[in-house]
This record gives sequence, structure tokens and C-alpha cells, in this order.
Amino acid sequence: MRVPLLDLCQQNQTLRPGLIGAFERLLSTGQFILGEEVAQFEQQIAAMAGVRHAIGVSSGTDAILLALMALGIGPGDEVLCPSFTFFATAGCVARVGARPVFVDSCPACFNLDMTDAARRVTAKTKAIIPVHLFGQAAAMGEVMELARKHQLAVIEDGAQALGAEYGGQPVGSIGHFGTFSFFPSKNLGAFGDAGMLVTNDDALAERARILRVHGSQPKYYHQLVGGNFRLDALQAALLSVKLPHLASYSEKRQANAAYYTDRLGKIPGVAEACAPECVSHQPSSSQAKMLLPAPHARRTHIWNQYTIRVSGPGRRDALRNHLVKNEIGAEIYYPLPLHRQECFAYLGQPEPGLPQVERLSAECLSLPIYPELTRAQQDWVIEAIRSFV
Ligand SMILES: *Cc1c(COP(=O)(O)O)cnc(C)c1O
Repeated sequence: MRVPLLDLCQQNQTLRPGLIGAFERLLSTGQFILGEEVAQFEQQIAAMAGVRHAIGVSSGTDAILLALMALGIGPGDEVLCPSFTFFATAGCVARVGARPVFVDSCPACFNLDMTDAARRVTAKTKAIIPVHLFGQAAAMGEVMELARKHQLAVIEDGAQALGAEYGGQPVGSIGHFGTFSFFPSKNLGAFGDAGMLVTNDDALAERARILRVHGSQPKYYHQLVGGNFRLDALQAALLSVKLPHLASYSEKRQANAAYYTDRLGKIPGVAEACAPECVSHQPSSSQAKMLLPAPHARRTHIWNQYTIRVSGPGRRDALRNHLVKNEIGAEIYYPLPLHRQECFAYLGQPEPGLPQVERLSAECLSLPIYPELTRAQQDWVIEAIRSFV
């Protein structure tokens, strides 16, 4: 049985009339960049993310870049961020001329280890970028506490977690800025690149809106050097068709995750990772050959990825090959941590090192979890894993 890692066609085909209607509407207006479609979509995202301002941008990456620019972060500044994340989180820090300071990760929830973050703060630290990795909110209570103590700006990278909550608060609404991506593989996927920057701060929102259009205010008069970070009207119109379904997509992902955890958890040698507070993580059960992701009680998980850990030298890659042989898509997010990337060699290696990140990049494997996955397909994945363990 074929089980792809993700199947975008199924989801989009069911929305065909609405999507074609949105395209036809655009065709007759001729307004292709920003405009009413974007403004309406921004309001919808602001409402669901519980923020005053949502600013439609060209990608999740540009949302992070714009946040850093609006905060005035640049050369001489340090920004704390995970090493175990997608490249854009740290890439944007380097692009504004600041220094990414890589922090270790919690082995159970994969998000920032806040004890480690605290010890890497210096007089130059200006901001922290918690990433809500794989769809689960980071330890925002601890993040905000550290930020208050050292007057750091907080940019929540919510690219993978639109709709997730921390202690009842939507991610993206807790820090100074929140960023979202509508890259097609995210829970709310566009038909190309698209993103959103959100904030509750009126002044920061104003600055970000000006920077989105080359820093021009009014048109052709520039007090700031911005860029072209605008969202296309077509992406906004198509995303508005999908947005009402986001909650049900995420619920289906949650149900699929619960099913995996229930069935895989019964296989001898497989255990659920403990869900600690990410401030004093306990070493996870060392006997287990495979650890299942455990959602934390106070943080909702929208399961952009269902990521297991496979211990033992070469075992993760062997399992991936075994799954691929059985026509199952499985992907390694992320095989090379950011502190080991060639482009960041100039930063030197973090001192102390990042032992949890090293382990995670060697052990993590993400399984198919998309909403349209059938039980038969999940059973096929579960049986393939059972025959491997
Ligand atoms: C996808 C992603 C981004 C970048 O979003 P794009 O829309 O692809 O530019 C940033 N951070 C994380 C954690 C992501 O997963």
C-alpha cells in the first residue's frame, strides 16, 4: 500500500468549486497584490490568532525577517534561537547582520531548552526566537520570563503551529511578534509561497507594514530601507477558502497522532517520551528502542509532523529505508543541525555544546500524519514499524 508523507491533491480537490470561484473573482478585479482580499484574510488570521494586527507577507521566512527589521535588530546584536529547526529561523538573524546564538533543545518536545537558553544570555542579547516545532507550542511561560528579565524581544516562529495554544493562548499572540507560514506542507497550505506576521503592538505593526513595501510612506518617500515582502491577493483569496477547514484538518491530525501513539506504544521496545517542563528535562527511558512524541498537557499540538526517535547507531536510517521499501514516505527533520551548517562555520561551535540537538538530528524520523490519511494506511505504517523493531 502506498502511504505518501503528504498528499495535497486530495485536500484541494474537495475544495475545487470554492477555489475556482476565488480565482474567477480575482480575474475580474485585476487587484493582484495586497488590496481587499489580503486585508480580509489578515482580519481572519488576526481573529483566530487572537491578535490586533496581522500583516500578510510573501513567506514565513519573510515574516521572520520583517519582524527582526521592525525591531531594529542588526550588527552587534545576538539572538537566541534553536539549532534544531528549519534553516529560516537562524538564516534571517544572519541576514540582518546579527549573530544567531544556538540553544539546545528539549529531548521530549523538541523545543527550546530554557535552562540552556538562560545560560547563553549576554549583554548583547537582544531577542529570542522560540520555534513551535512540529506543531507543538514551546515553553512560552519560561520564554517570556527570561525575556522580561533581560529585556529581550520575543519572535515566535509559529510556521508549523498556526492554531496551537500555550496555556489557552494562541501561539503568535504571546511574544512581540508571531510568524506563520503557508508553505504548502504546513497545516494551512497555500498554492505557492505565503506567510503572515502578527503582533499586538500598534507601533511595531505600523513599522512592519511600512517595511513590507520598501519602507515607503507615503509612496516613493522612504525613511526606512524595507523590501518587497507583500502577499499576493490570489494566495489570500485561496487561503480564505481553506481557512474555515483548518480546525478540522488539525483535529484529524490529532486523531491520527493518538492512533499512532496507542498502537505503536503497544509494540515491545517502544515507549512514549516523557513530557517534562523543558526547564529540567529528565533523560528519557534509556531502554526504549523507539520513543513516541508526547504532547504536553498545557500546550496543544497540531501535529504538523509526527516525529519519533529511533535509538542505536544507524537504526533511524535503517527504519527509514525499511519504510521506503514498503512505499511509506518518511522524512528526516532535520538531518544536520544549524550549528553544524557550513554557512554558520564563522560563528564557531557553541560552548557548551548542544548534546540533545546532536542526538535529535541522529534519531528523529517523521511519519505520515496528514488529515486525509486512512486507518488502513496508518495500520500499514504501524505493521511496517512492528516488523522492524
Ligand atoms: C516553513 C518554516 C519556515 C519558513 O516558512 P516559508 O514560508 O517556507 O518561508 C520558518 N520556520 C519554520 C520552523 C518552518 O517550518
